[in-house]
Amino acid sequence: MTLDVEKIRSEFPILSTEMRGQPLTYLDSGASAQKPRVVIDAMADFYSTHYANIHRGVYHLSAEATRQFEAVRGKVAAFIGAANEREIIFVRNATEAINLVARSWGEQNISEGDEIVLTQMEHHANIVPWQMLAKRCGAVIRVAEIDDDGVLDVAHLTSLLGPKTKLLAFTHVSNALGTINPVTQLVALARDRGITTLVDGAQAVPHQRVSVDEIGADFYVFSGHKVVGPSGAGVLHGRMDLLEAMPPFLGGGDMIESVSFEGTTFAPVPHKFEAGTPDIASIIGFGAAIDYLEAIGMDEIAAYEHELLVYANERLAAVPGIRIIGQAKEKAAVISFVLDDAHPHDIGTCLDGEGVAVRAGHHCAQPLMKRMGVPATARASFAFYNTREDIDRLVKALVKTADLFA
Ligand code: PMP
Repeated sequence: MTLDVEKIRSEFPILSTEMRGQPLTYLDSGASAQKPRVVIDAMADFYSTHYANIHRGVYHLSAEATRQFEAVRGKVAAFIGAANEREIIFVRNATEAINLVARSWGEQNISEGDEIVLTQMEHHANIVPWQMLAKRCGAVIRVAEIDDDGVLDVAHLTSLLGPKTKLLAFTHVSNALGTINPVTQLVALARDRGITTLVDGAQAVPHQRVSVDEIGADFYVFSGHKVVGPSGAGVLHGRMDLLEAMPPFLGGGDMIESVSFEGTTFAPVPHKFEAGTPDIASIIGFGAAIDYLEAIGMDEIAAYEHELLVYANERLAAVPGIRIIGQAKEKAAVISFVLDDAHPHDIGTCLDGEGVAVRAGHHCAQPLMKRMGVPATARASFAFYNTREDIDRLVKALVKTADLFA
């Protein structure tokens, strides 16, 4: 084990609480990660001693709040390997980032008969905004298939990229299966054909070092709350020439250069896309989260989580009637499973009784569930603050659950 996990755990207040009389075993970081004390403190400190609106006041407090807020843009850029921090747009979450692109870039660039290529393993956040766009513009959605192990069929995807394809949007890592897609290869396939790309990095950025400049996608999105930051802080990274050519998403204060009733001119990127008062304290907390992760090291986190995945796979094999959904070789620390005869919701409820928090349901990926032939799964998703003991507790609780339903 490469990390001092006991020290790390002591830095997350919630991890020393109890759930139903048992130590909390939190295995739902894929839905949202827990928060270290430094993130909670950064937000409390900001509200207690530095709070003011940003980009507005000439007074010291507002100038200082603006400085702190804007400093996070640089941290995010460095964290995801973006050379130009002006390419970082703050939004609420990955969902909002995708909607921004679908509305702004989409309506400008997609017309009747154009095609948008997605994959079968997308989260609803990377399906529904494109469907809404397709409906408005008369475009067509095409879907690349995955195999029974949950691996993307790259040949099928390639066959879908034709002269009518305007956009390829796909997930870097599947939230429901853990599959890691060959992101750089897929982006290159699209780029060679002049097709714009959007990568949903919501499940990738928390688990590995990501370099958006190396990946080369036109748009890359993720959510701060999955990288131990607060909810309300998300990121759209976009290529500057595209962002400059795009119309604003929301209009209002903070995104303008000048306004008159005859017409309005817009602020330069990134502020053109950041209308209204943002979630300032969350962005400050997000900055603290990035500092925290950088101090541990994303490569160390990836290596440690991989060890957890290997251990979990070994241990889970002993649970009677378990079937793991998603067997890709390239996989993040996410394990979706079903148990003979037990509905995933019942599994989730039984595990909850043992203090083990897993997600049960369709994981906002109903088309994927259909493809895998299951209505739902239970999902354990790991973070760098989880331990082998957490996995042992999961296995023990699952054996008990399997017994109940046998
Ligand atoms: N994409 C993926 C792959 C996800 O896992 C999630 C969150 N479950 C989202 C998008 C949406 O993230 P958010 O709810 O933070 O917008």
